[in-house]
Amino acid sequence: MTDKTFELACAEAARYGLRAELVIEEDLPSFEIRCKNGELTIAAPDALELLYGVYDAAERFGGWSFFEPGRDRFDARRIVTPPEGVPVPAKKPLLKRRGFIQEFPFGPETCDLFDWMAKNKLNYLLTWVKYYDGLADEYKRFAEIRGIAVECGHHNFDYWIPASRYAKDHPEFFAEIGGKRIKPSKDKNALLLSEQLCTTDPQVRSEIVKNMVEYCQKHPEIKIIGLNPNDGFGWCECENCSRFYDKSQKGDFYSVSEHVYRADRIYHDLLRDVAEKLHKVRPDLTLGFCAYVNYCSPSPGFRLKKGMMVHMAPYWRCINHTIDDPECPINSKYAADILRWTAVRDGGDVNIYEYYMGVNFYLMLPMIHFGEMFHEMKWYAQKKVDGVSTQFHLSHWTVYGMNYALMARAARGEEMKPAVAGLFDTLFGPDAEEAEAFYRRIKSMLLKAGRCHIPYPRSLLRRTQMSDYREINALAVKLAAKAPQDRFRAELVIWTEYMIRFKQLFDDYRAKHLTEKDVRAFLDWIHAHRDTRVFVHDRVDMYFQALLDDLRTGREWIHFNLDWEDSYILRHDEFLG
Ligand SMILES: [Zn+2]
Ligand SMILES: [Zn+2]
Repeated sequence: MTDKTFELACAEAARYGLRAELVIEEDLPSFEIRCKNGELTIAAPDALELLYGVYDAAERFGGWSFFEPGRDRFDARRIVTPPEGVPVPAKKPLLKRRGFIQEFPFGPETCDLFDWMAKNKLNYLLTWVKYYDGLADEYKRFAEIRGIAVECGHHNFDYWIPASRYAKDHPEFFAEIGGKRIKPSKDKNALLLSEQLCTTDPQVRSEIVKNMVEYCQKHPEIKIIGLNPNDGFGWCECENCSRFYDKSQKGDFYSVSEHVYRADRIYHDLLRDVAEKLHKVRPDLTLGFCAYVNYCSPSPGFRLKKGMMVHMAPYWRCINHTIDDPECPINSKYAADILRWTAVRDGGDVNIYEYYMGVNFYLMLPMIHFGEMFHEMKWYAQKKVDGVSTQFHLSHWTVYGMNYALMARAARGEEMKPAVAGLFDTLFGPDAEEAEAFYRRIKSMLLKAGRCHIPYPRSLLRRTQMSDYREINALAVKLAAKAPQDRFRAELVIWTEYMIRFKQLFDDYRAKHLTEKDVRAFLDWIHAHRDTRVFVHDRVDMYFQALLDDLRTGREWIHFNLDWEDSYILRHDEFLG
């Protein structure tokens, strides 16, 4: 694909009006932009870096901005004459793997997404195998030309051993709970499925390997394949599997798994065996897996060997502290887990699986993590972490897009101050200072909510005042009034109005006068904004169904009606202050 990537770099240089000579210099650690007698040269060690250099030059000197997928911005006032010399010296990227985690099917916006990733120098996409199956060949090529490696992974026990194929003849492949084999559900929403396999069964293991090898033969472009438990808990308790649990060893409070046994030993034994078997046949493949909830840390004796790659997910991390802050009782535990992973590295890779949008059910509430990300990336690099990826959605770009754009810059190794100031300047021009004050006001509300803040709605809405949201909304309205044609600013108004409405709904519920009709009206208002990039509509519907159910049944609404999750949240009420 190198030739195609080189052709694309040349075509993009022309498209973005750059008169530059493009040259390959294999010794460089990254692209470099030089200027001599007013003539630009972009030199790079390979075609992909050359492409990155073209986009970099277009943004830095050409008046372009690639803040949003599918919506390049051009502002002639931002055209700058490059200084003579080496305005952008080559510099080794801070983290080698920088990417997105896609938790939804590919669709018409996929090209815009891949295009944005290349323009922002992201080179990795982790997605569910079932979504990859729906990715058209032309999109696969589009990603490949842009240097985006795709990992087929994510929660997928149910993909490698599907109930539809195995449940009838091999009920013993599935977890035994309470003395009985589970009846695995078919086509259930995979969110918190809590149904696992009998992973110690040698036949289960060989079937997984066989199915993975077949899959990679059918999809020769795939080099990274994932083996991840179904979401949630529900590990097998048969006699053989039980040898891998110590009933006195439960998970932890910070990783919301104190109520279940640790599953690290049983999961890592499976991974070790599957990796060995897989690499006998296909030594070129990398086996990806996740570290999460009750399997956050490497189990005793586990080595992260060559051809293995972990994605460590600080699920429900605190967003009021950086990941390495020793003062944070939640994040400091995750930081220790990360260090345990880098300590057992034996040729394998360690990545961080982030949520720079809170988590899915934080539902577009604010996470302003600009400076923190630059700090966190530096810490990751110092600790020899190989990469970072974040969950995201295109349809909430106005809310979290700045996090995504700055994550890309931070992970690449750009300096915080110019990167953040540059983004504000791009988005708000002469009103950049006022816009910064708007974001600072939101951030101060988050910090004021309490010592720690775990990104679910109750954590914020319970500890903030309506007056906060009204003030924030007033700032957004003022900012929008200065540029009435600006879509982004108009959407910030909608976003802040949403916060007011959500806060009102929350307060009304607590005051016991919320009705189903009120909730429906709130949802109708949200759905009236489908043409914006503020909301992830299906997540909103899923989430508020729980509230509607509770209004009907009288159950107390805490979060998403999962008893175990609610009980953590009630304890957080005390613990987080
Ligand atoms: Zn078992
Ligand atoms: Zn904290």
